[in-house]
Amino acid sequence: MEKKHLIYNPEMECIDREKLKAIQGQRLRETVKLTYENVPLFRKRMDEKGVKPEDIKSVDDIVLLPFTEKTDLRDEFPFGLLAAPKSEIVRIQGSSGTTGKPIVSGYTENDVEVWTEMVARSLAGAGCGKDDIVQVCYGYGLFTGGLGAHQGATRLGAMVIPMSSGNTQRQIMMMKELGSTILCCTPSYATYLGETIRDMGLDPKKDLKLKAGVFGAEPWTEEMRKRIEELLDIDACDIYGLTEIAGPGVAFECLEKKGMHVNEDHVIPEIIDPVTEKQLPYETPGELVFTTITKTGMPMIRYRTHDICTLYVDKCECGRTLVRMGRITGRTDDMIVIRGVNVFPSQIESVLVKTNGVAPHYVLVVDRVNSTDTLEVKVELTEDMFSDTVAHIEEVKNYIAGEIKSVVGVQAKISLVPPKSLPRSEGKAKRVIDNRKL
Ligand code: ADP
Ligand code: ZN
Repeated sequence: MEKKHLIYNPEMECIDREKLKAIQGQRLRETVKLTYENVPLFRKRMDEKGVKPEDIKSVDDIVLLPFTEKTDLRDEFPFGLLAAPKSEIVRIQGSSGTTGKPIVSGYTENDVEVWTEMVARSLAGAGCGKDDIVQVCYGYGLFTGGLGAHQGATRLGAMVIPMSSGNTQRQIMMMKELGSTILCCTPSYATYLGETIRDMGLDPKKDLKLKAGVFGAEPWTEEMRKRIEELLDIDACDIYGLTEIAGPGVAFECLEKKGMHVNEDHVIPEIIDPVTEKQLPYETPGELVFTTITKTGMPMIRYRTHDICTLYVDKCECGRTLVRMGRITGRTDDMIVIRGVNVFPSQIESVLVKTNGVAPHYVLVVDRVNSTDTLEVKVELTEDMFSDTVAHIEEVKNYIAGEIKSVVGVQAKISLVPPKSLPRSEGKAKRVIDNRKL
């Protein structure tokens, strides 16, 4: 069946790429000038490199600019990187602190507007319009998920249910009674909601009106997408963002589900080699770097996300010309090195989601015993499997160990735990416990 694509701002989302480049160049020059004049750290870095704002003539000159790191946001906490006077800041949002100390970002009225438009585009990408009922179960607060989705849905004229996270029974009751059509939450919570809905004996086809979900804030896999789509009978679209750049909506998937369109008229994405820091061409995996080109509160120049992915520029059937970023396959700070082998939770997840008898609720526990790294994969059995024979359970265990060995190249201890025994997260799932650092 032909997919119906809703596009919020076709003029920008389907722009000719040469025209886009010219707009990016102009906006980049303005952002560099603004940041150079107002942010001492950036001016110092530029001076050290011997680069002046006038040296930036087109978007290709972006490679001349210094990088910004998360540590810079911590060192300059809370207001050191503002390019606008504090009186112009109308909002503070903060990182959920997945990795270490929290950081905050200041938004001017313009920045809230830019962010809202990016989320509106994202929700429209999943088919959301004025007639939709959007249930937001991302947390509201400093975390950008809740307010971000809320603002974007409001911009589209949709009806918003600002549930925030938690209280699964109540979420499901509201979903059913109000007839929510669009669900916004993390993919791990969507899985949990889906399983609970099934456990309650509800049939999403008959009892619910959901048609699509916009899921992000944490890495997930294609296998996880299939599972969520089956559990909830919806189209599950990916959305990406980070507090430092704006929040969710920096990039989003259309219903083609072939990677997330980056809102390139607001941010310039680059992929770099994380070691040499050299820019890499499209279709080469590497670390994602963003430069904001419309923000005025806390512009970010070449911000290193430490997220690993690939950019694609080939045509998308939806008509958008914006480049697409593939799934985040890992976060350099999430990567665990086990006996010299790089392991990403997403690799293990792809094995678990494909295995019959286990649910994709898992934790990786890393330790060091007699100077050797050990990896334990704790994963929940399904209810059916839990009451199965010991021999059969043993078989599942061996199967998982074998698959992990062949996909990741590491021997892991598999611990099959009872259904629903691992902690559930209403926000981002915590997948790795590394006891070596303690
Ligand atoms: P943090 O998680 O660092 O505390 P944020 O709440 O700002 O801070 O989250 C941003 C990070 O979340 C991104 O850098 C990325 O690692 C992760 N993330 C967000 N959306 C996605 C997504 N769709 N897929 C994978 N990872 C994502
Ligand atoms: Zn598309």
